[in-house]
Amino acid sequence: MLPELAPHAREAVILHPERAEPDCQNSSIGGPLLWPSDEPWPECSLPDVNSSAGMPATAMVPVAQIFRRDAPGPWWPADIDLLQILWCPNEHWDPPAQQADVSPVLEVRWRRAADVITPLRTPPPPSRYEKDGYLPQACAITAERVTDFPFREELPAELRPRLEDLVRETGAGGDVITRLAGWKLGGWPTWHLTHPTVFACSDCGTTMTLLFTVASDDETGVVVGRWGDLRLFTCPADHRHAFQVDLH
Ligand SMILES: [Zn+2]
Ligand SMILES: [Zn+2]
Repeated sequence: MLPELAPHAREAVILHPERAEPDCQNSSIGGPLLWPSDEPWPECSLPDVNSSAGMPATAMVPVAQIFRRDAPGPWWPADIDLLQILWCPNEHWDPPAQQADVSPVLEVRWRRAADVITPLRTPPPPSRYEKDGYLPQACAITAERVTDFPFREELPAELRPRLEDLVRETGAGGDVITRLAGWKLGGWPTWHLTHPTVFACSDCGTTMTLLFTVASDDETGVVVGRWGDLRLFTCPADHRHAFQVDLH
């Protein structure tokens, strides 16, 4: 790789899903979460297409659980070894600004697995959901570590031809190094529908980075947007700052 491009290379882990019966000690998509029995399970009471009042509140469902051991990388805060993502499996037209419109509403937990002394056995089921595309099927994941590059428009103009050369050299006719697709930790988002967008942390102003990509695929049964991606951006300065979700 050319040294000029190195600062634009980001580590990423592609998560390849496969239908399985993971337990709460496994990384998974749509599988059971290692959840403390004394911690309330997340609910959503925002208005959605199935309930304009958002009532009664409905339980969220697991989207992904990733243990650090399976997908190490720069996105892990110190002392944290478990990332959990849930969502409300309903379509929300106009949720709070940190959430994506016309999408499920996300919830994120960072944990230390050792802190979960008594795991919750049976989380509450959702009382309503919009469509099958929002109920992820339980899948085990195979992690593939990759180096991801941004869309060329996000590079300084003088580097764009260099990236195009690199794409040609590595891809056998295709592009296998930029904005890699699929369920993904880290890396770069694609911006094939709009101009690249930069999100500033609402707590400290730092430019947010892509933490997680929810993809649409047959294996998980997840479909977001028009067979698109739901992307979770977080603040690299402090993982406790508010996240931002974007549908593409
Ligand atoms: Zn909801
Ligand atoms: Zn911040």
